Amino acid sequence: GKKSYSFMLRTKNPCGIVSNKLYLVMDDLADQFGIGTLRLTTRQTFQLHGVLKKNLKTVMSTIIGNMGSTLGACGDLNRNVLAPAAPLARKDYLFAQETAENIAALLTPQSGFYYDMWVDGERIMSAESPEVVKARNDNSHGTNFPDSPEPIYGTQFLPRKFKIAVTVPTDNSVDILTNDIGVVVISDDDGEPQGFNIYVGGGMGRTHRLETTFPRLAESLGYVPKEDILYAIKAIVVTQRENGRRDDRKYSRMKYLISSWGIEKFRSVVEQYYGKKFEPFRELPEWEFKSYLGWHDQGNGHLFCGLHVDNGRIKGATKKALREIIEKYNLSMRITPNQNLILCDIRHEWKHPITTALDQGGLLQPQYVDPLNITSMACPALPLCPLAVTEAERGAPDILKRVRAVFEKIGLQYNESVVIRITGCPNGCARPYMAELGFVGDGPNSYQIWLGGTPNQTSLAKCFMNKVKVQDLEKVLEPLFYHWRSKRQVKESFGNFTTRMGFEKLKELVDKWEGA
Ligand code: SF4
Repeated sequence: GKKSYSFMLRTKNPCGIVSNKLYLVMDDLADQFGIGTLRLTTRQTFQLHGVLKKNLKTVMSTIIGNMGSTLGACGDLNRNVLAPAAPLARKDYLFAQETAENIAALLTPQSGFYYDMWVDGERIMSAESPEVVKARNDNSHGTNFPDSPEPIYGTQFLPRKFKIAVTVPTDNSVDILTNDIGVVVISDDDGEPQGFNIYVGGGMGRTHRLETTFPRLAESLGYVPKEDILYAIKAIVVTQRENGRRDDRKYSRMKYLISSWGIEKFRSVVEQYYGKKFEPFRELPEWEFKSYLGWHDQGNGHLFCGLHVDNGRIKGATKKALREIIEKYNLSMRITPNQNLILCDIRHEWKHPITTALDQGGLLQPQYVDPLNITSMACPALPLCPLAVTEAERGAPDILKRVRAVFEKIGLQYNESVVIRITGCPNGCARPYMAELGFVGDGPNSYQIWLGGTPNQTSLAKCFMNKVKVQDLEKVLEPLFYHWRSKRQVKESFGNFTTRMGFEKLKELVDKWEGA
């Protein structure tokens, strides 16, 4: 038969912002050229799966033609910049979003080759603010910037993909510590943004059976005044471009550069490009997980409504219902880093009819979603991702039901929650190494089990067991949850419990387990 190619396309949406028009275009393209579903991703973008090679150009030019530079980066470039999806009319949130957009613009390749491929040389770029253009081209503040038509990427782009997130204190909806660069808006006592704390060196991907590859949490680099942020970002990116390993892709993310140099050396090299010293990192309050599900006040007279989308997959009757609502009320949207959707700028008088329409369309309000589903994520994996060694998205509903059944069997309350994340390979797209209970595919129908993340995504999980067959999960989960229920301290999360107990003790409990 004729060989058929199938491609996955990514869009670029800083902060997950999706205009009404883009949503309707994507919804149509999914039906016309994809597999009839839209996938929301952990980087606040759309994925269209199953586009045949012969249709690729039509799809690309439709997206770009409707939206400007909405084509997402897939190569060794900066990926979609995350920022909190909540459309809150607060100075710090707005500033975080504006900064994310500026960073995205700063790190968009200048050569245009990306766009030329799809729109016959017609150059379509989004409007850029003068400060972005200035920061990109102005090399006077630091030293050693090479002369190049790509002022930031140089002649050879980056050694590897690059991930950046921007947020405000307490809001860890962006999984800030998993990014190559994490930026936090720091405001004064009147809520006026003054500058940024910067984290560097986070990353999830690793390779099985290779201990020298590892997930890593970002660590603090320092503070910069707000007018310097683009220069600081540029200096970090250029440091990685010039020094990141290019001989072996397994070690080419910036986290490996920082862990081999140490943060002190990394900071001093970045400071040479930045042309200044970093100020001390400002103290931050505790991070929190924020889902933004349900109805909220935007703070500007309008409402927003966060919708839970199981594994980010919009399909079937819910896809149709969602389209009707979005079309009827001319709504714009945001995609969250948890693969959910937020409907924005809703007038108070629309709340009732929209709620009714969501109910009828099977778009569940958060109170009807199992708490385990609300905090869980799974990557696309089989059959959509070529790297997958086992199921993730397709297997997730069953795994979550089985965890719920274990909870019931051993008497854990319905509202207890554990952050569960599942991926089909160690690349870690759904950030499983931050989960309290992470499943990382390590063979057909088999998973590594990772334990020790926290509900607010501030510590790294560790690998507890290898090669657990999917049919045997209860043999591990029952004893773990049983002992969590019976031995935990007041309000102790499952992740903290497993860390406190230690893996040796937990393994013993699993080995000795004879049933609840
Ligand atoms: Fe594919 Fe692996 Fe990423 Fe899942 S984690 S989407 S299997 S690369």
